Amino acid sequence: MHEIILNLHMHTRYSDGAGSHAELANAAMSAGLDAIIVTDHNVWVNGPAGYYKGVNRRVLLMVGEEIHDQARQPQKNHLLVFGAQRELATFAHDPQLLLDAVSRAGGLAFIAHPVDPAAPSVNQGDISWVDWNVHGFTGLELWNGFSEFKPRIQSKLHAIFYVYFPRRIARGPLPESLHRWDELLASGRRVVAIGGSDAHSNTRRLGPLRWTVFPYEFHFRTVNTHVLLPRPLGADSASDTSMILDALRQGHCFIGYDLPAPTRGFSLTAHGLQQTAQMGDELDCKGGVTLKIRLPRRTGCRLLKDGKPVRTWHDRDICTYITTEPGVYRVEVFIDYLGQRRGWIYSNPVYVV
Ligand SMILES: [Zn+2]
Ligand SMILES: [Zn+2]
Repeated sequence: MHEIILNLHMHTRYSDGAGSHAELANAAMSAGLDAIIVTDHNVWVNGPAGYYKGVNRRVLLMVGEEIHDQARQPQKNHLLVFGAQRELATFAHDPQLLLDAVSRAGGLAFIAHPVDPAAPSVNQGDISWVDWNVHGFTGLELWNGFSEFKPRIQSKLHAIFYVYFPRRIARGPLPESLHRWDELLASGRRVVAIGGSDAHSNTRRLGPLRWTVFPYEFHFRTVNTHVLLPRPLGADSASDTSMILDALRQGHCFIGYDLPAPTRGFSLTAHGLQQTAQMGDELDCKGGVTLKIRLPRRTGCRLLKDGKPVRTWHDRDICTYITTEPGVYRVEVFIDYLGQRRGWIYSNPVYVV
């Protein structure tokens, strides 16, 4: 498989972000990304998608959309839509109608920041997803850079501290998001987890102070979605885009927090009697299955089955686990960074049936 680093969920000046598509592409090249998906609020911007070239680098810019009902108060239920290739914000008033429209358009739908608590100190409301009776979504944004920041800022002083020391923010997906994902998986659904940045790169003022809150390039070096492709990216942006979206649809991806150390090279594979499976795939448990985990460096990780830890390893870079039990198996990897143990990698599950 060919691994690419994708950053998704970001805003340009077409909604409430500070940059243009070309500026985002440049920031992505500086951060060493292979691809980005721009998702402006309630507008699908047709035109800027494609390869952008820099010195010795290029990046594939894809255009999706983040849709929510702007008449709803509070403005909950944000949906990331990729690959629909048309404006779908007209369906925003009804999340199920919207999901059906995405499906008809052949797109992918991910519930954005499923848990996104209020931060009264900076006048931000709770914009979690609430209509959990819907069906037909591809997955959810398990780790969102910005929702993780909100519960940390108990006061304006906390907000200023983290804006100046953003490397101290990320610790992992919110526990409620992980719990929600495990619940959905336990109900028998296939739910793909992705990590998004929700980058805006806006400038804020406090008295005489002025600063850019989390520049694009900072976000692009933090929570990424690493996608495993059947072939390397080529020359044609349209076929590369559909290959990446296919891989996301199948859950052939993991979430990597690349700031403490690159997560490139992580793998979770499952080996049965006659088949081999990777993240997102299904494998028959008859005759036993060996799960193999490869970490990009020696650290600690744990294997979860149906949301419950079944094995923990310390200071390892290769781990194996043999099972004959059906279940949803996924991996969480941790790393010590700036004096704290932090989430580093979250795999998509292998479904042993
Ligand atoms: Zn949102
Ligand atoms: Zn957003």
